[in-house]
Amino acid sequence: MIKKLFIATLVALLTFTAPTPVTNITAVAAEKNPVIVIDPGHGGFGDRNLGAQYNGLSEKALTLQVANAMKAELEKYDNVTVYLTRTDDRYISLEDRAAFAKSVNADFVYSIHFNASSEHLFYGSEIWTSGFDKYYKAGAEFGNIESEALGALGLYQKGVKTKLGSSGKDYYGIIRASVARDIPCVIIEHAYIDHGYDVPKVKDASFTNTLGVTDATSVAKYFGLKSATLGVDYSNYKKATVAKPSVVLGADLSDPETCQVNVLATDKASGNVLVEMTANDSNSPIIYFSYSYDGGKTYSYLQMWDRSKQTQSFNVAVPKTCKNPVIVCRAYNNYELFKESNAVAVTDFQ
Ligand SMILES: [Zn+2]
Repeated sequence: MIKKLFIATLVALLTFTAPTPVTNITAVAAEKNPVIVIDPGHGGFGDRNLGAQYNGLSEKALTLQVANAMKAELEKYDNVTVYLTRTDDRYISLEDRAAFAKSVNADFVYSIHFNASSEHLFYGSEIWTSGFDKYYKAGAEFGNIESEALGALGLYQKGVKTKLGSSGKDYYGIIRASVARDIPCVIIEHAYIDHGYDVPKVKDASFTNTLGVTDATSVAKYFGLKSATLGVDYSNYKKATVAKPSVVLGADLSDPETCQVNVLATDKASGNVLVEMTANDSNSPIIYFSYSYDGGKTYSYLQMWDRSKQTQSFNVAVPKTCKNPVIVCRAYNNYELFKESNAVAVTDFQ
């Protein structure tokens, strides 16, 4: 009797414990296939619907080109559903774009954009996302993959950024409207259409196609997709984990704290002044710097700042016409706020 009871107990234990790991495996395998909404920014007519316009380049046309290329590439992956918010040149409100994403049960909204600045100073890519909780986590984890990929194409990277409006919600409408519907969203500002570093790339139709393919590949990595067509498998791709922020993340609203220059050496023959610059911002990285040899009347183009260092040195070429050079520099953080340095008169130059 005792033996029989023991066997019955053992059978019961096996019966009740065995299914557990099977259930877990099933749960992993049954993870739902992602639904991706690609949003080509802007569209339609009237100033505010065109997006950035500069020297014949039109943001609303470029966004559609990249979005079409992104969709075509993403559809080469298995078990993914892809939608565009617009397929032609028409106005659609940001609320309607997000509502469309909700109606198709989207897992992520990718809003495709190009950039421009009023002074035509800036260049490179930036990725905007929500400042809130899991939406920031998703946006930053995707954004880090995407930023690395865009950097590999030779575009300068300003990284993942957040910005809040006066209401305390996300500043950008497509992000705010998506998050309100529980959908993570990023705005990918691929490049500037008004700066000499980026324009030759943007003007090349094969490059806009490459941008779409790059965006799609980053999505595939983020979601761990695989493609029999392409012969790639990102199902074991390890994306860097970003923690959910403990506070709401807004833009850096303060100028860099430190911007200091010294003159290390001068060479009258060549006109070169070797300048050492120290710059720091504890809230966001220093990404650009510029220099002036005429005491701040005119400045160089923005240069790329080496983010691995707080102090770096460079030559300033002073033209012969400038008899009394005065060196001043500016350090810009990745929200484009700058601090101007002390001025150093080069006394032994002439
Ligand atoms: Zn735009």
